[in-house]
Amino acid sequence: MQSKILVVALLSLLAASAAAQNVKVTPLGTHPGELCDRDRAMIFEDPSGVRILYDAGQSVMGAEDPRLGTVHVVLLTHAHTDHIGDRKIAALNLGTCGKPETISALPHSTTAEIAAAKNASLIMIRNMAFFLGKKIENIRGKPTGNCTEPGGAIAAVQAAPCLAPVELGGTKVVKAAGATKGVEIITMHAAHDSTLSRDLLSEAQKKSLEADNISVSLGAPSGYIIKFTNGLRVYLSGDTGLHTEMRTIAHDYYRVNLAVMNLGQNAILPDAAAYAMNELVQPKSVILSHPNEGVTVGGVLQANTRAKLFVDQVKGRPVHLGISGRTLEFDGNGSCVAGGC
Ligand SMILES: [Zn+2]
Ligand SMILES: [Zn+2]
Repeated sequence: MQSKILVVALLSLLAASAAAQNVKVTPLGTHPGELCDRDRAMIFEDPSGVRILYDAGQSVMGAEDPRLGTVHVVLLTHAHTDHIGDRKIAALNLGTCGKPETISALPHSTTAEIAAAKNASLIMIRNMAFFLGKKIENIRGKPTGNCTEPGGAIAAVQAAPCLAPVELGGTKVVKAAGATKGVEIITMHAAHDSTLSRDLLSEAQKKSLEADNISVSLGAPSGYIIKFTNGLRVYLSGDTGLHTEMRTIAHDYYRVNLAVMNLGQNAILPDAAAYAMNELVQPKSVILSHPNEGVTVGGVLQANTRAKLFVDQVKGRPVHLGISGRTLEFDGNGSCVAGGC
């Protein structure tokens, strides 16, 4: 009898330690339980405790959003309004999944608001980091400094928001206190654009550009590759068309085993996005995000959607919908092993 109890105790201990080795991925969209038009934001939590916000966008309530919790790192792929977050939601479930109701997040943006409130490290392309550093300074009333990297890693917990500007292909490591390993974050090429809306510029700059109906670009658009401490290697596509680096860098070099693929007609069509998964990136699992349409009703994929065309064409690997508020847990091999999968 006693040995039986011991075995049960050991098994539950093993299960607990295995669960502790998973990376948790939680999409933060406009409508809980659904995948909706504006949804982009996701929280990634490493087993060491490092928590990363990917593309805050327009589907969060800004810094006050209780779903955010602790945020150590803020990532931003490019300056487009639906990623930097010129608008935000006042509450969950406002408007429809296909056309959510949002309110202005000007003059700061959801990205700047959240990074300022959470004392986050901003790991992103240089010009975008500097631009957001100024926004954060406007919120806090003091300059935003660069993150220090003692021993080659940024500490997860910071006393103030800080900037970690990188070029394409640059790497930053973020380490939790006492952890043996850090989370590696690499910026990755995206075939897209990173022009800022004039609405986010200072009045003087805005005026001078209005005459020519142009705005400023904040540098190269990007995706990311994240190497988590449990071995999970994630490709975050950002908005992008097809490009060969999906094969050479994401697959051949980094051997990513999970891909978060953005759809959206201005960037990539479902058949091309499926080709990227099947032939170029070849991950173990896929998460679909950035649909630019209402994808689900009651959490169920709808027939007449671009998302469905994508899901139907991805072969040999599961496609998980980025359902808002549903946490998926991935092991080091890229398999969803717990949570809503
Ligand atoms: Zn874009
Ligand atoms: Zn976008």
